[in-house]
Amino acid sequence: MNLILLGAPGAGKGTQAEVICNALHIPAISTGNILREAIKNQTALGMEAKTYMDGGKLVPDEIVINILKERLQQDDCKNGFILDGFPRTVPQAEALDKMNVRIDRVVDIEVADEKIAARLSGRRVCENCGASYHTLYKPSKTEGVCDACGGKTVQRKDDHPDTVKERLRVYHEQTEPLIDYYTKTGKLVVVEGQEEVADTSALTLKAVEA
Ligand code: AMP
Repeated sequence: MNLILLGAPGAGKGTQAEVICNALHIPAISTGNILREAIKNQTALGMEAKTYMDGGKLVPDEIVINILKERLQQDDCKNGFILDGFPRTVPQAEALDKMNVRIDRVVDIEVADEKIAARLSGRRVCENCGASYHTLYKPSKTEGVCDACGGKTVQRKDDHPDTVKERLRVYHEQTEPLIDYYTKTGKLVVVEGQEEVADTSALTLKAVEA
């Protein structure tokens, strides 16, 4: 199954991508994680992307489209994949169509802006493996330490309040039009983000397995 997860930053796409990945045994592909890895490795791509990401802006379409194209060619995508954070603009969705990538379902996770700011301020991610936690909703067993790999958990630079405001503005302006784009294809399913992660996960699984 080839899936897209849509939603505002902080709507819980990463967590839901992990849930589907474990249930359906298909890889979750996060362009954000790929870009953060490039920044960590100080590649030319990483250095270019960093200025956009730190300011809450989108990385130019051409760059992320190329990243995705390459990633989808890897063997583990043969039986399906979950796209988490791509596409984020209409030109990116059109590029996916042009690549003749079949999309079976698009799950849009909806969460009100006010809730997102609170969620993002508590988000912590592992510097080493990228696992995501939340100080209130999904704390790691030991504060500051990743359950999965023992790495250090930190707050992302782009989760600081002013950057979050900009990311939400960019989401409404550039990403939200994709809801219309995929409604027209008949592939869109809306999942209302719940207070409890487990409740959202149950709805997401129902949406992809139906
Ligand atoms: P994420 O981890 O998905 O929230 O992505 C973090 C940041 O990476 C975003 O705020 C963008 O700056 C950049 N990014 C990730 N995916 C994309 C994309 N598909 N198009 C443009 N920028 C992206």
